[in-house]
Amino acid sequence: MFLRELTEPVGRIRGAGPKTIGYLIKAGIHSVADLLCHFPRDWEDRERVVPLAQFAENPQVNTTVTILGHTWIGFGGKRTLKVLVEDGSARAELLCWNRRFLGNQLTPGRRCRLWGHFQYKYGKIQSGSFEISPEGEPQGILPVYPLSEGLNQNTFRHLVSRALESYLPLIDEELPQGIIEQEGLLPRALALRAIHFPPSMAELDRAKRTLIYGELFYLEIIVGRRALERRTIRRGPTRFAAEQNPEGLSPLQRRLVERLPFTLTPGQAGAIAEINRDMSGPIPMARLLQGDVGSGKTLVSFLAALAAVEAGGQAAILAPTELLARQHAENAARLLEPLGPRLSFLTGNIRASGRKELLKGLAGGHVDMVLGTHALFSDDVSYADLRLVVVDEQHRFGVAQRSLIMAKGNHPDLLMMSATPIPRTLALTVFGDLDVSVIRDLPPGRKPVKTHLARQSNEGKVYDFVRGELDRGRQAYFVYPLIAAAEEGRAAELKDAQTMAARLAGEVFPAYPVALIHSRIDEEEKQRIMERFRRGEIRVLAATSVVEVGVDVSNATCMVVEHAERFGLSALHQLRGRVGRGSEQSYCFLVYSDDLTQDGKTRLMVMLEHTDGFVIAEEDLKLRGPGQIAGIEQSGYLSLGLADPVRDAAELEKARREAFSILEQDPGLLFPEHRLIADVLKKAPPVTVTY
Ligand code: ADP
Ligand code: MG
Repeated sequence: MFLRELTEPVGRIRGAGPKTIGYLIKAGIHSVADLLCHFPRDWEDRERVVPLAQFAENPQVNTTVTILGHTWIGFGGKRTLKVLVEDGSARAELLCWNRRFLGNQLTPGRRCRLWGHFQYKYGKIQSGSFEISPEGEPQGILPVYPLSEGLNQNTFRHLVSRALESYLPLIDEELPQGIIEQEGLLPRALALRAIHFPPSMAELDRAKRTLIYGELFYLEIIVGRRALERRTIRRGPTRFAAEQNPEGLSPLQRRLVERLPFTLTPGQAGAIAEINRDMSGPIPMARLLQGDVGSGKTLVSFLAALAAVEAGGQAAILAPTELLARQHAENAARLLEPLGPRLSFLTGNIRASGRKELLKGLAGGHVDMVLGTHALFSDDVSYADLRLVVVDEQHRFGVAQRSLIMAKGNHPDLLMMSATPIPRTLALTVFGDLDVSVIRDLPPGRKPVKTHLARQSNEGKVYDFVRGELDRGRQAYFVYPLIAAAEEGRAAELKDAQTMAARLAGEVFPAYPVALIHSRIDEEEKQRIMERFRRGEIRVLAATSVVEVGVDVSNATCMVVEHAERFGLSALHQLRGRVGRGSEQSYCFLVYSDDLTQDGKTRLMVMLEHTDGFVIAEEDLKLRGPGQIAGIEQSGYLSLGLADPVRDAAELEKARREAFSILEQDPGLLFPEHRLIADVLKKAPPVTVTY
């Protein structure tokens, strides 16, 4: 039986009382497998003696003490017991907060084992957090679990220990013997025991390595299999033939390119060549287009859409916000409609009558290309022949949403776009079976945005500078972390978009039209404001992070982010990407609170030192860990237990090589030595991966 198959309720474990079971279930631990996979967050080495006298140099004291006596502090019901102890090296006091019962156990003269964190206070060595046990009790290395309400370490340790006793003999190996030997890993059951109750620190290390390798190996097997599956889908006759011209473009694509006032950057040309190759091939495309903010991904997606339409199919371009979807629709109307394709725009806000007409057009094939928000995959939307799905800002969509829209076509091509680059380490895991195109260059003539950090108390200087830019005819964004601080009870600490819009209009830039935009303003109004900003009728936009993605106004040269330390690095990078979109020099001011923490300073320095989104994403990953990367956790990209693809990057690469070489030799996992892998996948896949 595989560990994951131990689905028996935790209640079956001997000694688990109903109250404890209640708390376990509340903590999400339902089965024996859940319990055994609830790994310690730390281990305490109680073999090593640390006498009281060495409390300062060690995080924990671990010694044998004699109880000297009791005293009390405080009065009445609030009385707290103080137990005096000594271990031959020093004397100390144990403060028994809410543990008055210890008085009966710790009688003067007794000897006990003592474990705890000690401090020097009021001339005494003291501890308020300690554990005490009878002198003879075996010690060893003890696990420390991440526990929630109602559960304590001792109860949990006992439960795990009982569960190991009863179930360990049933647990089968999950990795092929060859790999275990080659990698110097432990047998699974031993590894599981050792991760909870390691006989030595060296064995703990091996146990961790074993379990981590197992997770990563299956992760890569799953990724590899999915890649194979997609490659075995065969769709009908070639849908689109790229021209035999030097650029490899189709006739319609060529016509668009010829109409543009600029030429494609090498990165754009490379990306569209790769996309054309995929779209004309028999295997459905699954391609991730990565390119920094402002690199011109939209245009590439329009070219791809033209190819789908030219071949007689439909294309859908999905954007995460209505603002962005509308901007795409307007650009498409300007660039593509003159070439022939019939476009439409669909969001949740389209009124009933118009919507009905539109849905008819899509279902009947009278619409070639649709741009919109999540409304594109609503239940009542169907497509005559959906051949290409473009997902812009893909990290903003969940897995389920992406599959909903894919299901509306018959193996449509998928183009996902992101300016929040997926760092290499994650690219190997989650996106391991996607093809990736990268646009490394920005359109020519762009000057890098000049970034400045400014203390809040120096905001006056920033305002003066922005006024100078406004005087030269430019426009500016001011971004705040909140819409209205007063409503959110934070008026004293934080500036907000609403209050600041009034202040910017009234005091700071009285000569210029200022507008406010945020997520609670209704869509039509938002759209009117953006349109007026685009036309230059509004010169200063006070906003929240709604302007983070996609917004493209090239005359805007100033981005001021106030309370910048409150934004994540990828958000700051996106925000900075709203300027520097024309040929003028642009500026980004990150205004920070006067009492900036070290951590906040480190993050802002990354913005100052780097302009490359890929580097910023890697830094972000280092600072925050993979779970925090925009969208990864929420979208359920992957669920790992002990492994961390960033920290364990070297193991990951090894596991990947091993997994892929197995799949290459034996895609169906039919060789006898690979049956086990097929079996694990079928009965108890240890990880889930989706995109
Ligand atoms: P992103 O990759 O961030 O989505 P956009 O597609 O919004 O970038 O493009 C940013 C701006 O660059 C747009 O105004 C677009 O018209 C312009 N642009 C795109 N490609 C080129 C090019 N090859 N040369 C000059 N400008 C371009
Ligand atoms: Mg974009």
